[in-house]
Amino acid sequence: MRSLSPGSNIGILGGGQLGRMLAISAAQLGYSVHIYCPEKNNPAEQVSNAATHAEYENEEALSKFANSVDVVTYEFENIPVETVNMIGRTTPVYPNSEVLKISQDRLSEKKFINKLGIDTAPFKAVSTSEEARHALVDIGYPAVFKTRRFGYDGKGQAIVRSETDIEQAWSALNSDKVIVEGFVEFDLEISVIAVRGQNGDIKCFAPVENEHKDHILDLSIAPARIDNALKEDAIKKAKKIIENIDYVGVLTVEFFVSSSSPRLRVNEVAPRVHNSGHWTIEACPASQFEQHIRAICGLPLGGTDFIGEARMTNLIGDDIFQMTKLLSEAGAHVHHYGKSDVKPGRKMGHVTRLYPNNG
Ligand code: AMP
Repeated sequence: MRSLSPGSNIGILGGGQLGRMLAISAAQLGYSVHIYCPEKNNPAEQVSNAATHAEYENEEALSKFANSVDVVTYEFENIPVETVNMIGRTTPVYPNSEVLKISQDRLSEKKFINKLGIDTAPFKAVSTSEEARHALVDIGYPAVFKTRRFGYDGKGQAIVRSETDIEQAWSALNSDKVIVEGFVEFDLEISVIAVRGQNGDIKCFAPVENEHKDHILDLSIAPARIDNALKEDAIKKAKKIIENIDYVGVLTVEFFVSSSSPRLRVNEVAPRVHNSGHWTIEACPASQFEQHIRAICGLPLGGTDFIGEARMTNLIGDDIFQMTKLLSEAGAHVHHYGKSDVKPGRKMGHVTRLYPNNG
């Protein structure tokens, strides 16, 4: 295990709030952070030591960036694979580009999960509305059309409740790389945040329950209100995924939980820290952000245990105007991401509350 000493430089591709919270954890452990992203005045560089503003395809800027840091990671999964490969020629990048490639395409992601013997929703890759119509004969209604790439927070998705919805849903996606996915009648959605160190050690946080509003995460409750056997099964599945891809860093696995078999189906895998793990900042000895920094720097992983219940609420758009009120609430851990433009649907901050006596 090659461990980086404090004072070393960590490069982060992407400048959003996840990069910001990674940079704060890196600083806590004595590292310097260099952010690389096209956008100026981004949340991450406000708390970092250096920033490069350039496109992800700019070879000259990437090479200069790679040579100025000791290790590189990324905070969102739509970074071009070629960018990571380019940096990887001179500087270690974690997680590796292979996992990025798998997770960027819903088809390869689902095939990979199924190959490990883990369930997903039934799916079929299609490229025309006619193929989608055929796929629906097997998959049945309702179903969801999803673009294979670049979908997030419900974007690039359309529900198809009956045959009459097909054409409209198809045109809404405006893509010829689509999967038709069976609609899962789930009771709740959970995620498991797992971390793997360079020496192969794996740790998982308790499964967390996630509620969405307008397709955006609204509330996370940790631990998820499911029985222990199901919690253990979710953790077992997340471990199986993370150890099968030579992974280093934090990986998030989202599941649908149903009352009938199969009780757990993987919806998505994110090769990064995740919004549903923000509660770990206050609730656990080492947060998801700190675990990721520890992993990529070759340090031992930290504790994931916590007592009681944690609830994290996102502050979306205008919600951020409640900040003063939240600050006067004893026990509310308030986070502002430093974004100046308040826009509907934009993640502006979050608040975590701990209930040590619950559970
Ligand atoms: P995704 O972008 O795939 O994470 O989907 C966003 C949200 O849409 C999920 O968190 C679910 O609430 C819902 N959703 C996605 N796919 C399905 C599905 N196959 N069945 C039921 N709900 C779904």
